[in-house]
Amino acid sequence: MDIPETGRAMVLEAQRQPLREMDVPVPQPGPDQVLIRVAACAVCRTDLHIVDGELAEPKLPLIPGHQIVGTVVQTGGRVHQFRVGDRVGVPWLGYTDGTCPYCRKGQENLCDHPLFTGYTLDGGYSEYAVAFAQYCFSLPESFGDVQVAPLLCAGLIGYRTYRLAGDNIERLGIYGFGAAAHIIAQLAVHRGQSIYAFTSPGDTPAQEFARRLGAVWAGDSTQMPPDKLDAALIFAPVGPLIVSALRATVKGGVVVSGGIHMSDVPSFPYRLLWEERVIRSVANLTRRDGEEFLALASQVPIQTETQVFALDQANLALERLRQGQIQGAAVLVTRSAGDQVIEQGPMDDASSFSAESRPLNRST
Ligand SMILES: [Zn+2]
Ligand SMILES: [Zn+2]
Repeated sequence: MDIPETGRAMVLEAQRQPLREMDVPVPQPGPDQVLIRVAACAVCRTDLHIVDGELAEPKLPLIPGHQIVGTVVQTGGRVHQFRVGDRVGVPWLGYTDGTCPYCRKGQENLCDHPLFTGYTLDGGYSEYAVAFAQYCFSLPESFGDVQVAPLLCAGLIGYRTYRLAGDNIERLGIYGFGAAAHIIAQLAVHRGQSIYAFTSPGDTPAQEFARRLGAVWAGDSTQMPPDKLDAALIFAPVGPLIVSALRATVKGGVVVSGGIHMSDVPSFPYRLLWEERVIRSVANLTRRDGEEFLALASQVPIQTETQVFALDQANLALERLRQGQIQGAAVLVTRSAGDQVIEQGPMDDASSFSAESRPLNRST
């Protein structure tokens, strides 16, 4: 397979600045790495936190992006999991040391010396990317490249958030109805759970989106739901939602925050936490989460709603996400994917993408 010397990439040179499009050398895979020709890379709110400086000390310059789908074009000498031509997915967890106390306890998501794709390792806003083969996933064949990309973080971390809410849940609240919520809601509905969706006040398109995915109730995050919730998942980076969610849960209810960054949580009366309510956060993912979730996703099957942007429109995609204008998930596609042109349409004018007018499973 022909591998060029350079490829296009969107590069963060300093935080709080737009990404810059440039030609960069195609990286050489290390002995445990694969070189991937990127087809698609979904955009995560974490990417925005990195660009906006809410997450400190990224690698700089940095190629963001940690929901990478592509084809292996070269393998390092010690790679045995994948061969040239295999399709792989690369998630946020890019590397762990395997030896720290957390790794030894099976909590690799809490590793003391981790590397994260698109944060401390270069990621997938690029035509080519390298990744440690042990942390890449095989992807279910039933999904197209664009469709599967958001499963790699919104799906995986959403799943871990959902899993940590526990069992025996009939009524599940979801605060923030974006990429993760639209994926996890489908899994929960599939399992017969009732979804209560909370959005920013007045965001009726997101509320309609939630109802279309099967939510029994959708409303403003300032409202109380008509029924008490057994658990609540929080996917919006808004600290006061933790307090709102506590108010809305039954005795013993669990509130799980899925985000990596959140505004401060205001103080609240102890009685909201009393009666054995639980607040917990989620950090990163384990490879087991990924394998479990990807298998479930193809069983359900989960259908992602995507808004597609060309790689060089990464700044536009980030701005749309910042403004709350992405329904479902934004996905960047490389023009070099060539024979894998998945998306028809005017990619140079993303404003013409109207999520409402598109069927749910429109990405393949
Ligand atoms: Zn470790
Ligand atoms: Zn992410």
